[in-house]
Amino acid sequence: MEFNLNNKVRPHLAGVKSYQTLRDSYINKQAVYLDANENPFGEFNRYPDGDPIQLKKKLAEINQAKTENLFLGNGSDELIDLTMRIFCEPTKDSILIMNPSFVMYEIYARMNNVQVEKLELNSGFQLEKDLFLDTVSKSQAKVLFLCSPNNPTGNSIDDLEFYIQNFNGIVVVDEAYIEFSPEDSAVKLLNKYPNLIVLKTLSKAFGMAGLRIGVGFSSIEIASLFIQLKPPYNISSESQKLALLQLNNLEVLKNNISIILKEKEKLKLGLEGINSVVKIFPSDANFFLIEFKDAQLIYQKLLDKNILTSLRHPSLNNCLRISVGNADENSELLKVLSEIKES
Ligand SMILES: *Cc1c(COP(=O)(O)O)cnc(C)c1O
Repeated sequence: MEFNLNNKVRPHLAGVKSYQTLRDSYINKQAVYLDANENPFGEFNRYPDGDPIQLKKKLAEINQAKTENLFLGNGSDELIDLTMRIFCEPTKDSILIMNPSFVMYEIYARMNNVQVEKLELNSGFQLEKDLFLDTVSKSQAKVLFLCSPNNPTGNSIDDLEFYIQNFNGIVVVDEAYIEFSPEDSAVKLLNKYPNLIVLKTLSKAFGMAGLRIGVGFSSIEIASLFIQLKPPYNISSESQKLALLQLNNLEVLKNNISIILKEKEKLKLGLEGINSVVKIFPSDANFFLIEFKDAQLIYQKLLDKNILTSLRHPSLNNCLRISVGNADENSELLKVLSEIKES
């Protein structure tokens, strides 16, 4: 299939000029800054670097990618929204998503007045190839969102490349949890597929949800589109600085990931001993999707003890999604669960 990016981008964007700023060419230079109506006083008075090159270099190095293939968002959430705003014509175009999957794809589609088509996952929460090919042959969807490991089910999607290869639009592979998973990142497929966007985030495995940094990987052409069309200063200077500091201690971050993975195994053993647990679904992420006899009741009983969990998807009957916490949090969870009497 011939892929032509120009046919995928919303036509009116060809003529849209992004906000031009002198600043990025003068960053870190001694200069008299009278161009942006900033206040000359204060600790946070200057606008941040609009295309944070230091941070991008570091992220490229960590992900074995090139800086020019990388773009940043205020969380990967912003990049999901931008994907629709760049490729989908409101009221006309649609996106194709897995069901169940991350709820924000649908929420941003609705906000952008973009239609949503769904691919039902099978009982093992995998895509069915026949259903996929059949759906795609009838669909005009501009963007396919794949999420692996999938939220809220936790499993990795088998044979991702098949779906990337057989979709003639933009394919977004959302890898928010990939660092917890034994699977390879789809970043290594970028050279092969000009229609591929891989999204990662510093919010989950890297422990920086508060900094709001999402990372996109794609062809240089797609990356340039995002850089041009994103809000001009979408990563705050403090976030840039603090993320770089954290990423310079990668060993600490990696160690935290292995602690979480050990806690995850312990938590699984504990959950297997809980009476009200019907099924713990296989997870490659830092959470479990768990089926209970009565999820609503468990959810409420946990909430009564100030333990917050996530009551999932309408299509996931009697399931809660529960994150892996630290040792104390997980023990507290197991203690409360073991004391719940189901009437
Ligand atoms: C948490 C999550 C995100 C959003 O991450 P941010 O970078 O914090 O916006 C994206 N996709 C999935 C599947 C997630 O679970």
